[in-house]
Amino acid sequence: MATVDFDDRGIVVACHSCGQKNRLVYERIGETVRCAKCKDALESPREPIEVRSTADFDRLVSRSSLPVVVDYWAPWCGPCRMVAPEVQKVAARQARRVVVVKVNTDEVPDLGERFGIRSIPTIAVFAGGREVTRSAGARPAEHIEAMIEKAVGHHPFAVFGDFGLGQ
Ligand SMILES: [Zn+2]
Repeated sequence: MATVDFDDRGIVVACHSCGQKNRLVYERIGETVRCAKCKDALESPREPIEVRSTADFDRLVSRSSLPVVVDYWAPWCGPCRMVAPEVQKVAARQARRVVVVKVNTDEVPDLGERFGIRSIPTIAVFAGGREVTRSAGARPAEHIEAMIEKAVGHHPFAVFGDFGLGQ
């Protein structure tokens, strides 16, 4: 079970080898970072990270070196449960290219209000601190990936060119 959390400077991940907690600084997410204790390369998060506060969301979106994919959802929403495994696939396949987060619109309602989220699930992509695209409704991982690439494929913040989709 991956332990991933936010602090005021970055994403905090546990080292797969020794369990040491390390920070992936927002401005350098996607770069290779080594564990402070055992020096093993740390893996970028391969699962969606749940955002629990507006402050965490704002810090991530404004400072992340990678595009941020946001899945707005709520526990009572059936289509959200359908899209959840698809969002998970995107997070695993596009690790090091995007950061995938989930926003529970019941738990963090001011984000849904600020961005005018009228239906869930809604998937949005942020790059360079602003929203570049969004789409409402459940859809397969491939559609979400195509939407990301269309929105940020040529964006200076994206590194699709360095890694190639699907690797
Ligand atoms: Zn380690």
